[in-house]
Amino acid sequence: MTERPIILWFRQDLRLGDNPALAAAVASGAPILPVFVLDEETPGKWSPGGASRWWLHQSLYALGQSLAAIDCPLLLRRGTGAEVIRSLVAETDARAVYWNRCYEPFAILRDTALKNALKDDDVEVESFNAALLFEPWQVKTKSGTPPKVYSPYWRAIRLLGDPEPEGAAPEKISRLREIPAGDRIEDWHLQPSQPDWASGFPALWLPGEQSALNKLDRFLENALEDYKTGRDFPSKPLVSRLSPHLHFGEIGPRQVWHRTVAHCITTGRDPFTGSTEHFLKELVWREFSHAQLYYNPTLPDACLRPEYEGFPWIGSEKPLRAWQRGQTGIPIVDAGMRELWQTGYMHNRVRMICASFLVKHLMVDWRAGEAWFWDTLVDADLASNAASWQWVAGSGADAAPYFRIFNPVLQGEKFDKHGEYTRHWVPELSNVPDRYLHKPWEAPENSAPDYNSPIVDLAFGRARALTAFKRLNEGLPSDIAACA
Ligand code: FAD
Repeated sequence: MTERPIILWFRQDLRLGDNPALAAAVASGAPILPVFVLDEETPGKWSPGGASRWWLHQSLYALGQSLAAIDCPLLLRRGTGAEVIRSLVAETDARAVYWNRCYEPFAILRDTALKNALKDDDVEVESFNAALLFEPWQVKTKSGTPPKVYSPYWRAIRLLGDPEPEGAAPEKISRLREIPAGDRIEDWHLQPSQPDWASGFPALWLPGEQSALNKLDRFLENALEDYKTGRDFPSKPLVSRLSPHLHFGEIGPRQVWHRTVAHCITTGRDPFTGSTEHFLKELVWREFSHAQLYYNPTLPDACLRPEYEGFPWIGSEKPLRAWQRGQTGIPIVDAGMRELWQTGYMHNRVRMICASFLVKHLMVDWRAGEAWFWDTLVDADLASNAASWQWVAGSGADAAPYFRIFNPVLQGEKFDKHGEYTRHWVPELSNVPDRYLHKPWEAPENSAPDYNSPIVDLAFGRARALTAFKRLNEGLPSDIAACA
């Protein structure tokens, strides 16, 4: 009699190394059926956006290749996750289903219900942590509550000690002999056809586990040492660009943590100072975002501070369209928005500037910006995106105070003084002298005749937003006429 298989459900853990669900399935000795389900129903409006779908295609292809190399093909199925898994259990008479946990509210609801249903059918279910250094519920203040702001979160993580060591990738997987019928990835049409807005992506990104590990190595070798001072300058190659690999789970945060610490120690430095600590702390911002989503399932849709729901957002489509297209007439904002469209990525400093400009100077609801980022970022992540937008808007946990309004001219002058970044993405500005690059409207001669005038006067926009936030904080009615 053949042994009943274990179904290994790949989700946001598209790797073989440090994959605890896979390791446990292999350790059981049972035949394994690895499956990925394209589920466009359960996430509702948070189904992967265009840029994420491009990445997913490449990433699944890479995972499929790695599994095929050890003779264990990846099964692809499309449909509602829970239904597909239950149907596969019936088709293969599986004795167990293993997966690594996801933290999106819809995923938690689905997984909890599925776990109960499978257990009722006498099917074993095991779930594991592959996506975080520590589970949100492990991280507590001294009084035993979840930290609501970042610094105590970092301190609480440090008190927990080292994260679990990194697990090895299996060299062999015992496969299920009779594989049920599955889909071909090409038939999922995850990649854009015409117009192919992602045509520039392959030159910039190589999704997949091996590529993620190589990228981490290169970052540690070439950039880590200067990360703390360099990470704010968008033209410098001093950030890791690991975010999409982390989102899709091609590399896990424990791998990043341990390899970074080990690299630092071998080069004779203390990992918990300077650039290395700063990098680890950024990794913990990702954890903190996940914890915020875990404890506040409405984070992507509703202001964490409910009073912010009364903010007089301007509903007009025109400023939003200009922002999305990088046509606002504010150089660093346009550069960032064009980088995003053409590469699926935007440097963190510029994300903050562009988001602040949309929410504060243009007074467009942060949820419109969040939705655009969701569709266009290759690293679109429900937790990090929602938490970051709420941080910028001032409505979130540990948020930037309402009176902190980024001045895009000063930010540009500070972080892209000679315009290497801005001129690259906004070539209409190539002949503008450095002095006027970030405020071409002040130049005595028009050296950028093809560039737009600013969509909003920056001083007016700032004053209007400040009035609106002030009225909101004082509990006054805050219609737009009262703020202009
Ligand atoms: P590095 O500087 O090399 O940092 C290493 C890793 O730490 C990153 O890969 C990322 O996983 C994590 N990290 C760094 N900064 C943050 C942060 N502020 N919040 C959470 N995690 C962080 N990040 C996403 O991964 N997905 C998103 O959808 C996303 N949306 C954002 C929206 C806005 C408005 C803003 C201001 C920030 C957003 N971020 C998001 C956070 C941050 O901009 C990116 O994680 C970072 O730019 C990724 O580049 P990197 O990998 O080179 O980062």
